[in-house]
Parts: sequence; structure tokens; C-alpha cells
Amino acid sequence: MVVLGAGFAGLAAAQGLAGLGVDVLLLDRHNYHLFTPLLYQVASALLDPSQIAHPVRATVRRRRSLRVRVATVRRVDLDHRLVETDRGPVAYDHLVVATGSTTDDFGVAGVDAHAQPLKELPDALALRNHLLSQVESAQWETDATRRRTRLTVAVVGGGPTGIEYAGALAELLRLVLAREFGHLDQREMRVLLLEAGDHLLGAFAPPLQRYAVDQLRRRGVEVRLGTRVTAVEGGRVRLHDGSEIEAGTVVWVAGVRVSPLPGLTGAGDAAGARGAVPVTATLQLPGRPEVLVIGDGAAVVQDGRPLPMIAPVAIQEGRHATRVIAAQLRGEEPPAFRYTDKGIMATIGRHDAVVEVGRWRLRGFPAWVTWLLLHLMLIISFRNRLLVLINWAVNYLFYDRPVRLIVRAGPDRDREAVEGPGPRG
Ligand SMILES: Cc1cc2nc3c(=O)[nH]c(=O)nc-3n(C[C@H](O)[C@H](O)[C@H](O)COP(=O)(O)OP(=O)(O)OC[C@H]3O[C@@H](n4cnc5c(N)ncnc54)[C@H](O)[C@@H]3O)c2cc1C
Repeated sequence: MVVLGAGFAGLAAAQGLAGLGVDVLLLDRHNYHLFTPLLYQVASALLDPSQIAHPVRATVRRRRSLRVRVATVRRVDLDHRLVETDRGPVAYDHLVVATGSTTDDFGVAGVDAHAQPLKELPDALALRNHLLSQVESAQWETDATRRRTRLTVAVVGGGPTGIEYAGALAELLRLVLAREFGHLDQREMRVLLLEAGDHLLGAFAPPLQRYAVDQLRRRGVEVRLGTRVTAVEGGRVRLHDGSEIEAGTVVWVAGVRVSPLPGLTGAGDAAGARGAVPVTATLQLPGRPEVLVIGDGAAVVQDGRPLPMIAPVAIQEGRHATRVIAAQLRGEEPPAFRYTDKGIMATIGRHDAVVEVGRWRLRGFPAWVTWLLLHLMLIISFRNRLLVLINWAVNYLFYDRPVRLIVRAGPDRDREAVEGPGPRG
């Protein structure tokens, strides 16, 4: 059995399948599992990468029948039941595809070249380096306009990642860096949150959406609703009304889309929402019962609505993949998948968050404690939980961001040895 992707969905599936005692091969292009909900804290200099990324081998080492290999998957050959990777072909009897999603630029010119994404671990490090470098450079800037541009960050996208990063950034600039860069004028440090729709946090109830706007504004974030970005250029974003904003850092967190692995879908197949692969109610590929697609990459419709691309959906689908394959191995009909919604939450900043579980809504300090405890519980490994807790406590008590380092990796001579030759994915 082969599982592609060691994210939330793939890891849950691989662990479940290994629990059945069958041989499982787990392939990922990275050797770590990334806890994306805290990625913005790496980008805002609060956490170290190793605290939110855990080696896959360490995570699964107790599962004897589970092997892990690092490889970039290039294509799936459904007819010959082969996965083509940069390391060579891999044969499968059952295949679980969980390769996730990528940043969606929505066709906006210049995003790729000039905006900073926040999807992968290297994105968060690049963003941290860029932002801290901008503040350092601003110290040398004698021209006031150029200095303000360097100190302006435009965050594009008012979903959970956008508000969490904007909130954390406002705190970093105003409460942490302002103390160390004494002669920079705080009024020149701007964080803008640009959202095309007329509210933030689309999945939340309107009172929580309004609360998030108010709280971000109180924290100094300039929230602009109904503001659609039409182009990103070096040092500025252009808006739908013809105006522009000078910003030395543009963070693009407007959404994600799926680029299905070549070979996975036929030319005539209609893609689901955001390019996701349509699957049956049992998460199988139509006409290919031996292939399951799960996580962000799968278009699953429940009660007439596509399921959101979030970690709980991915984890539940990963667990369900085990049930489907177990049923197949027993010669039984595979069960249909049903997602159990346990609620959504987002943090706005220091002791502030919003939580929604069914009709139950929470905001402010109690929501923040709920958010904090839940995320702490979900982080893989006791060591990381402890380190994250220490970093959070230091930040909370002393307004300190411990990882304010500008560190760029040197030439990666070993990369070929780990990732193999060929184009880089
Ligand atoms: C910044 C950010 C913050 C988020 N915050 C939250 C949150 O707070 N709560 C929440 O519920 N959801 C959150 N999400 C969404 C959540 O991360 C996704 O819904 C979830 O990760 C989907 O799980 P997945 O297993 O489908 O994909 P992923 O977790 O993305 O895993 C995909 C895996 O496949 C691997 N892979 C991809 N392509 C290849 C290839 N060609 N070859 C080999 N390996 C490959 C990747 O390396 C990765 O390990 C956030 C997402 C982001 C980007």
C-alpha cells in the first residue's frame, strides 16, 4: 500500500493502515510533518521551525510495517498502478493520495514574483527574513517615503491565516521591534489587511467577523474590506479602484487551490472547488476503487456544500481511508465518509481569539485560552509542546520574540543527495 503525502490526511491514513498490519510505504517530498496552524508564528519570529515541524520517521517509528521514503511524486499511472517519482517508479495495490494544496494567486499579476506566500515552512522563514531585513534597512533609509514603504506590510486575504498573521505582526512591530529600533517612528510602521469581500473570516458567524475587524483595528491593523488587489509589483500593490499602496512586504494569504498530480484525473473530469479531485462518497476515485484521494486535494460534497480545506477534515478523511481499505480487504462494501464538524477557531493576537462550535460562540480571553490549549494538545511530541509553551510564555510576559534572526541557508550541497537529481519541486 502506498500513501502519498505526510500531511494531516496522509499521516492519519498511513498510521491507520499500518495498524491493520499491512505493509505501507509513505512518500513525501519533505522528511517532516508540518503543523500549518502555527506557521504564521514562525513567520512572525515567535517559534522556531523545529517546534512546528516534526520528522516523519520519528512520528511513525513505532509502526513496524510503515516505511517512509523522501521523494517527489511526479505522476500517477492508474492503468499500470505505478507512481512515478524523482527517485524512480513505485508500484501499488492500493493508493492513497494526500498531496494537499498550493497557494492560489487567483490570476493576479505579480503575485509569484513579488508577494510572499505563507504555505510551506521555507515560506515562513523567507517571510521572517524579508520582514526583519526591511526593518533593518529602514534604519539606513534617509528618504521618508522609502522608509515608510519598507516599514509597510500589506497582508492580502482576510481568512484565518491573514488575520492571525496581521495580528501577530502588529504586535511584533509595535510591542517588540519598536523597543529595539528606538528612533524609528512607530507611526511609520503599518500593517494593512486587504480583503476583497465585505467581511473577514468568511466561515464564521457575522458577530465574530465584526469582532475580529474591531479587535484588529484596536491593535493598529488597518483593515480594508471590499479591497481587491489587481496586481502586485516590486514595492506596491495595485487595487481595483485604480489606487495603489506602497508596501515593502506583501504577504499573499488569499487562498489555496489544488494542482492534482498528473495522471490522476482524466481530461474530461470536471474539477471540484479550487481544482480538487472529485471522489465518490467513500473517497475513492470514480472507476478506480483501489485509489483514494483525501485531504485538501479531494472535492468532497456534504449536504450540498463542499467540505472546507482544513486540518480536521483532512484528519477525518485520513482515518476514513483506513476503514475503506480495511473493508475492501475483507471483501465488504466500503463505508461512506461523513465529516463531523467540531468547530472552528482563529486567534487575533495577545489574549484574543474567536471560537465557533455549532451555535456556541466564544470570543476574547476565554476563546484565546481555548485556542491555546487545543493547539498545544495537537502539536506532535512532548518536547515541542514544552518548547512552544515556553516561547509563548516568554512572549506573553516579556513581549519578546525569541527567534528574531535573519538567517539564510548557504548553498545546499547535500540537497542532491537527499532529494535526488532533476528539477526541484
Ligand atoms: C498557513 C496555514 C495555516 C493553516 N491554519 C489552519 C488552522 O489553523 N486550522 C485548520 O484546520 N487548518 C489550517 N490550515 C489548513 C490545513 O493546513 C490543511 O487543510 C491541511 O494541511 C490539509 O491536509 P493535507 O494532508 O490534505 O495536506 P498537507 O497537510 O498540506 O500535506 C500534504 C503533504 O504532501 C506533500 N506533497 C505535496 N506534493 C507532493 C509531491 N508531489 N510529492 C511528494 N510529496 C508531496 C507535502 O510535502 C505535504 O507533506 C492552514 C493552512 C495554512 C497554509
